[in-house]
Amino acid sequence: MKKVLILGSSGSIGVNALNVIKNFPDRFEAAALTVNSRIDILEKQVEEFNPPLVVVKDDEAAKKLRKKIGNKCEVLSGINGLIKAAAECEYDILLGAMVGFAGLAPTLEAVKRGKRIALANKETLVVAGELFTKMADEYNAEVIPVDSEHSAIFQCLVGENKLEVEKIILTASGGPFLNKSKEIFKTVTVEEALNHPNWKMGSKITIDSASMMNKGLEVIEAYWLFGMPPEKIEVVIHPQSIIHSMVQYNDGSIKAQLGLPDMKLPIQYALTYPERLKNNFERINMPAIGSLSFLQPDMEKFKCLKIAYDVLDAGGTAPCVLNAANEIAVEKFLTGKIKFSQIPEFITEALNKIENHTAPSLDVIYECDNRTREFVKQLS
Ligand code: NDP
Ligand code: MG
Repeated sequence: MKKVLILGSSGSIGVNALNVIKNFPDRFEAAALTVNSRIDILEKQVEEFNPPLVVVKDDEAAKKLRKKIGNKCEVLSGINGLIKAAAECEYDILLGAMVGFAGLAPTLEAVKRGKRIALANKETLVVAGELFTKMADEYNAEVIPVDSEHSAIFQCLVGENKLEVEKIILTASGGPFLNKSKEIFKTVTVEEALNHPNWKMGSKITIDSASMMNKGLEVIEAYWLFGMPPEKIEVVIHPQSIIHSMVQYNDGSIKAQLGLPDMKLPIQYALTYPERLKNNFERINMPAIGSLSFLQPDMEKFKCLKIAYDVLDAGGTAPCVLNAANEIAVEKFLTGKIKFSQIPEFITEALNKIENHTAPSLDVIYECDNRTREFVKQLS
């Protein structure tokens, strides 16, 4: 029996992960579940999955939850609670499914304990890729990607020699604005940007998908996960989201991983790897799909993707600035304070303003994240 700690159990990935766990009651159980403020969802999850420990946003939320669930499990709160859970609780796999920079600290605690990290929270690799991968090596923590593209690449690499890889090809749906002109970025509504054609996800990553920042973050994520230089990481638009990514080898042969756009499959694989367990998830019906198509991404239109490549070249704390500026800009867009077109503008301003530090320590990363957030908060 493997015990799984889920950071972010109330989110889109967290809920899918609990569905996977439910499918394999003899193989997996919930060791700890964490949410931010949606304690109503957590209350039901405690009822169903009986975790010995949960973590919520703050003392007030903890008090409310205790009133509802009594002494069913231990309740911790805040960032210290998250860190304590990851550092002390008994578990085998940490599923990083929190959104944003906040997931970094508890995930690093799991790395230090040499746990398997099933990683959905790409922002941790974007802001601290160098430190994270070094520590994962040092502590022998196995990092298995959950992000569908990276899970695809990981699967295509099984049994292959990494030195024989010519390039990796990350597929991107292109999001809701693929066939719209860039002029509309000044006027699109939050609702339009949240209307992703293929995937149902949390609001932050859905906006990132609309701006293609998500693909930019994924290029950086791929760089750290697979040790590929930026020129060997190509992005191709594939509107059907059936091929989740590909690896091209030295002889020109390309391996691809296909699946329906459903995160349960990459989550299951990250939990069961190297095994493949039989499930009853829906299968692809190829004739019903008909055709698969591919296009070059337009970097003039999707500026965020271009910025992410530039930031990867710059290295140091530049990806941390990019991530923090994007998190604040997306929050501002979601709350109606700025236009969609201002997201890349704010990120560029932050990158111009905040100086770059090479090989940053965790303290430097925290300081850089903080400074960037304060800077972007006051932009309008
Ligand atoms: P959601 O917004 O649906 O869920 C986020 C989860 O994190 C929730 O449980 C939320 O709690 C919790 N959370 C948010 N902020 C904090 C915080 N400051 N402290 C503690 N907990 C917090 O996001 P997704 O599930 O869509 O995405 C999670 C991660 O996975 C992201 O990094 C995303 O990029 C990545 N990912 C997601 C995919 C998807 O299909 N959804 C695909 C590939 C990657 P609460 O509900 O209480 O707010
Ligand atoms: Mg993805």
